[in-house]
Amino acid sequence: MTTSTTKTSIEKALVTGASSGIGAVYADRLARRGHDLVLVARDTARLEALATRLRAETGVSVEVLTADLSDSAQLATVEARLRDDDSIGMLINNAGVGGTGPWVGMDVEKSQTLIDVNIVAPTRLLAAVATRFARRKGGTIVNVASVLAFAPEMFSGIYSGTKAFLLNVTHSLQAELGPLGVRVQAVLPGATRTEIWARGGVDVSAFPAEMLMEVDDLVDAALYGLDRGEVVTIPPLADIGQYEAYEAARLAMAPNLSRRDVGTRYRVKSAVAA
Ligand code: NAP
Repeated sequence: MTTSTTKTSIEKALVTGASSGIGAVYADRLARRGHDLVLVARDTARLEALATRLRAETGVSVEVLTADLSDSAQLATVEARLRDDDSIGMLINNAGVGGTGPWVGMDVEKSQTLIDVNIVAPTRLLAAVATRFARRKGGTIVNVASVLAFAPEMFSGIYSGTKAFLLNVTHSLQAELGPLGVRVQAVLPGATRTEIWARGGVDVSAFPAEMLMEVDDLVDAALYGLDRGEVVTIPPLADIGQYEAYEAARLAMAPNLSRRDVGTRYRVKSAVAA
């Protein structure tokens, strides 16, 4: 597995989607590691309750920044914070919404919101930190993607596409910022017990028990992967050799993807002439 080697320190972390699920556990674990926090989501009451508990239990400073990341003006306040506040050295790009069902009969407005939250917001937040982290030659970026990046046929194709986007973006950030000393990681959860399922009308208790990870286990594994310098962390995948073979095949194609000549299989005229 690709790994990055960069220095680490206990820097203030901004966690999006911190009001529940994976983001709330990230907030908990990072606070216990001594990181001051900025917690972002729409539900102020839940963020405040979490902040109060974490301040009391860990003594770190926790700020609540309420924002709907699908709203461009509210997103801009988070972007500005990440761009201008040099005390923030870690971005956990976690907020996300679930799938919008099949293409036939799709609710296009819901899909637009999915793209706004899962693609537009993380892109703008990444752009806000990338320049600053490059300048200071340090910082940590975690993008919460999904194993569905590899499995567009299994679920909502748009959701899968948004998570494949985050995986690709992570590779590109690693190529550009990794050598400057910025830690970059994509985390690819499989099905994990959080509210995202109920929000989409799915009863997660109907899943086979062996398919569903507990959220504490997921985040602990993701942070272990980060500590190990992994660029891509897939907590549910038991045989990492499968991912390594996939990645090796992808990278082996790279030198062959831009050529003057079309592949021989497309030389229709010469095939007919022969
Ligand atoms: P969750 O419990 O539903 O948490 C989603 C978080 O995102 C909440 O804090 C929610 O807070 C926030 N959020 C949603 N829409 C938002 C918006 N418009 N603006 C700001 N914040 C918003 O689900 P989760 O499973 O922890 O999801 C976290 C990430 O993990 C997502 O990116 C998801 O795609 C990814 N993931 C989850 C699974 C899984 O099986 N659970 C698997 C693979 C990947 P508010 O409602 O307070 O705004």
